[in-house]
Amino acid sequence: MVITRKVLRNVSLTAHPVGCRRHVEDQIAWVKNPKGSLYSPAPNRMPARVLVIGGSTGYGLSSRIVAAFGGGADTINVSFEREPGEKKTATPGWYNTKVFEEHARKSNLRAFSVFGDAFSDEVKEETADLIEKEFGQVDLIVYSLASPVRIDPKTGATYRSVLKPIGKPYSALSVNLDDPTITKETIEPATVEQTEETVKVMGGEDWKLWIDLLDGRDLLAEGAVTVAFSYIGPEMTYPVYREGTIGKAKEDLEKTAGALSKTLRAYVSVNKALVTRASAVIPVVPLYMALLYAVMSEQGIHEQCTEQIWRLFTDRLYAGIPVPTDKEGRIRLDDWEMDPLIQAAVQRRWEMQREGKPLKGGNLALVRQEYDRIHGFGYEEIDYEADVDPRVV
Ligand code: NAD
Repeated sequence: MVITRKVLRNVSLTAHPVGCRRHVEDQIAWVKNPKGSLYSPAPNRMPARVLVIGGSTGYGLSSRIVAAFGGGADTINVSFEREPGEKKTATPGWYNTKVFEEHARKSNLRAFSVFGDAFSDEVKEETADLIEKEFGQVDLIVYSLASPVRIDPKTGATYRSVLKPIGKPYSALSVNLDDPTITKETIEPATVEQTEETVKVMGGEDWKLWIDLLDGRDLLAEGAVTVAFSYIGPEMTYPVYREGTIGKAKEDLEKTAGALSKTLRAYVSVNKALVTRASAVIPVVPLYMALLYAVMSEQGIHEQCTEQIWRLFTDRLYAGIPVPTDKEGRIRLDDWEMDPLIQAAVQRRWEMQREGKPLKGGNLALVRQEYDRIHGFGYEEIDYEADVDPRVV
């Protein structure tokens, strides 16, 4: 079939297997080759056996790639995927995982995946069995889930996460990935229940369930480390992010790191705003990203997930103890994004935007290109008119 790009309200409905291959292979190539002056070489001590929960796209996939091709780790990924059919494309994560595992095998690295609902007891037990059988124990657990829904394994209750402000409506300018016209968006505040549900889905409860299970079964190696990802961002996005429902969930995640520290070294890493399947649907964020990408690329410091995670491993987690953190104990990979000079430039450009007018001073093309590429689209050399079998990557 000919696979075309279909994006509805910043959600891509299709993925291209040839392009997903390219997306993963580009990341592997970057990790294997010299990184330039901004990036340190891989430290001597990297984790040997790594579990990535949510390791098929975005920050989780990059964590798997850096661990394997930067540090020689054997890896297990747990992710939720749609399988392809004769006339139906798979999720990008399904293609990415197949390509990653093909390359891992070629490099004599062991790589396994569990496809299913990471929130469920069954998937946790299956993963623990796999660790016991194949690895014995794990040295690093990366928790990188981004999900709109969670079924509580104990009660069967379904919780849904929402991206809303708390207390009062929030109006701000925004932009659509496919249209540079500035729009105004108003988001109604979340109910108390919606806030609680978002914390249930995106907070730390499930992360702790994973660690408790692995600890209970003696699957955590001596000196094991775990990391989950958070975001803070600039004040202009606080109402919908840091002070909104997702911010409450992230606060809970950060508190959980403290609780987990009794069992192993546990960190929350605050990462840069990047286009991923999860972040593109947050209102206001695509406009902020278009301005931020423009400013950071003009300064030569724009990064994607791979570069961010490279710095996480080389300059933070495995650079020596104590790991560099802020005073709240969080790892800050958003340091370049939050640099006052970068933020002041973004703020100046933000003030230039007018509803109904085209975006000024932003780089929406780059945001859109990255969004397309994580779904396997937007590569000049790929023939998107060609007939491809969606079941083959
Ligand atoms: P993503 O959508 O690219 O990846 C999410 C991963 O979770 C995928 O592998 C997906 O298959 C998996 N997943 C979702 N539901 C699942 C389920 N029920 N069971 C198993 N796997 C499931 O998202 P991302 O942007 O890389 O986000 C990862 C983390 O990083 C999130 O905590 C997010 O808040 C955080 N973060 C993102 C940004 C950003 O700008 N993208 C910035 C800072 C922090």
